[in-house]
Amino acid sequence: MTVFPLVGTILRHHQQMHLMEMLKGHGLRFASLLRQEAYIGGKWVSASNGKLFPVTNPSTRKVIANVPDMDEVDTQAAIDAAYEAFQTWQRTTAKERSLLLRKWHNLMEEHKEDLALIMTAEAGKPLVEARGEIAYGSSFLEWYSEEARRIYGEVAQSPTNSKEMIFLRQPIGVTSMITPWNFPNAMITRKAAAALAAGCTCIIKPAEDTPLSGLAAVDLAEKAGFPPGVLNVVTASRKNTPAVGKLLCTSSKVAGISFTGSTAVGRHLYELCAHGIKRIGLELGGNAPFIVFNSANIKSAVEGLMVAKFRNTGQACISANRILVQEEIYDEFLEALKESVSKNLIVGDGFDKGVNQGPLINDSQLRKVENIVNESVAAGAKVVLGGKCLKKGSLFFEPTILSEVTEDMSCFQEEVFGPVISLKRFTTEEEALKIANSTDQGLASYFYSQDVSQVWRVARRLETGMVGINESLISAAEGAFGGVKQSGIGREGSKHGIDDFTYLKYLCIGVN
Ligand code: NAP
Repeated sequence: MTVFPLVGTILRHHQQMHLMEMLKGHGLRFASLLRQEAYIGGKWVSASNGKLFPVTNPSTRKVIANVPDMDEVDTQAAIDAAYEAFQTWQRTTAKERSLLLRKWHNLMEEHKEDLALIMTAEAGKPLVEARGEIAYGSSFLEWYSEEARRIYGEVAQSPTNSKEMIFLRQPIGVTSMITPWNFPNAMITRKAAAALAAGCTCIIKPAEDTPLSGLAAVDLAEKAGFPPGVLNVVTASRKNTPAVGKLLCTSSKVAGISFTGSTAVGRHLYELCAHGIKRIGLELGGNAPFIVFNSANIKSAVEGLMVAKFRNTGQACISANRILVQEEIYDEFLEALKESVSKNLIVGDGFDKGVNQGPLINDSQLRKVENIVNESVAAGAKVVLGGKCLKKGSLFFEPTILSEVTEDMSCFQEEVFGPVISLKRFTTEEEALKIANSTDQGLASYFYSQDVSQVWRVARRLETGMVGINESLISAAEGAFGGVKQSGIGREGSKHGIDDFTYLKYLCIGVN
C-alpha cells in the first residue's frame, strides 16, 4: 500500500493509538513493545522508500498497524550491519552469549502477557494459545543460553605421532531467517536462539501477516543488550518479499538461511541458495497421519487428536491431517470425537473469555480450507460436523469432521491448515502404514496403540522426522524438530539445532 507521507503519518498514528488503547483495555502494560518500525544495525528504522504495509486483526478484519514495506535497499543495509557485527560477535565467549540469551529469556518471561496480547491482536490466536506460544518461544532462549556453553569440538586420534588433529566448531556467519505467521514468536526464537548461541548474527524476515510479534520480541533482545547488528528485522509486504528473500539467499555476505514455511517457497529458496552453495535449514509443510489402532485407549486418542488437530485452529505444520482408525473401533472413536468437538471447542475473537478456536489467518487460507472441504464432500466425504465458514465475510471456519474419506480426496492429499478432521477406516497395520507413508511430506506422524511390539514396528516404519506415540504434544525446546522427504532439511531445538549454524574446522598441527 502506498500512502502519501502526511496522510500516512496521521493514519498510522491514529491506528497505533487505537491498537494501544485496545490492548491496554486487555491489560497491556508496556506500550513500548508495540514497535512499528524495522530494526537494522541497532536502530528502529522506516523503509528507505518510505512505504508501509498494513497489519490486520483477522478476528475483526480491522487494520491495527502499519509497518515498513522494505525492499532490497533496506535488506542490503541489514546484511551489511549483520556482516559487520559478525566480525566481533563471533569472538565473544560462549558465556557472554549465554548470559545475553538468558537476559532475553528473562525479559520475555517478564513481558509474556504483553507479548501474548500483541500476538492475539495480529494473528487472531486465542489468548490462551498465544500465552502458550510465548512460553514455548521463550523456552528456546533458555535452552540455547544453556547449550551455548556446550558447543564442543573434538580431538581425533592422529595416524602418526608427528601430528595432532583437532576439529573446532565455528559459527557459519550471517544467517537469514524467513518465518511464517502461524507461530510468529516461536519460529523466530527457535532459529535465532540457536544461531546466536553459535556466534552467528541474524537477519529476520517475519511474515507479512504477523510482523508485530517479531518486532516486540526483538525489542526485548535490544533491551537485553545484544550489540547493534547482531539481530536485525526486515519487514516486507507479500509484494516485496520475493525480492527481499532473493537477496537474503544470494548475498555473498550471507552464509546460510533458515526457513520455516510452505514446501513450495522452501523449494524456491533452496534453488536460490544453490548458486552460492549456502547452508540451508528448511522446516516445511506436513501432512501428518494420525493412526488409532484397535488396542488404543480411545479416550486418550480422542484427547490427543483434539490437541493435534485444533491447536492454533489447525494452522500448524504438525497438525494431524489424515486420521486413520482401525475398523473395529471406528464407530466408537467417531462418536467420542464428535462429542468432544461439540463440547470443547469455542470459536470466536481470541480476546473473548473461553475462546479456544480463532479465525483463519487470511482470505487465501480460508478459501483453501473451503475448497478442500467442498471438493472432498463432492467426492463422497460425509459431513459429520461443521463444514463451512461460520459467518459470511468472516475468517472463522466451523470445527469440522468429515468421515468416510478416501485416499484420493483433497482433504487427504493436501495439508488442510484449518480445523478439519478427515477420518478413514483401515483394516490391517500394513494397510495403515502404506496409506500413512504414501505422501511426499514427512514431518510428523502420530499413532495410538497399547501393543508394545506394534509400537516398535510402526514407529520404525513411519516415514516422518517426528513420531508421537500415545502422545500428540510433541513440541519442546528439548526435542529435535524437523522433517524428512519434502518436509525439510535439518533440525531445530535440542542440541542438534546448533548444527545448522556451525561448521567443523579441521586443524592439523605438526608436532616436532
Ligand atoms: P509461506 O507462504 O511459505 O510463507 C512463509 C514465509 O516465507 C513468510 O515470511 C513469507 O512472507 C515468506 N515468503 C513467501 N514467498 C517468499 C519468497 N518468494 N521468497 C522469500 N520468502 C517468501 O508459508 P505460510 O503459508 O506462511 O505458512 C504455512 C506453511 O508453513 C505450511 O505449509 C506449514 O506446514 C509450514 N510450516 C512449517 C513449520 C515447520 O516447522 N516445519 C512450522 C510452521 C509452518 P510473506 O508473509 O510476506 O508472504
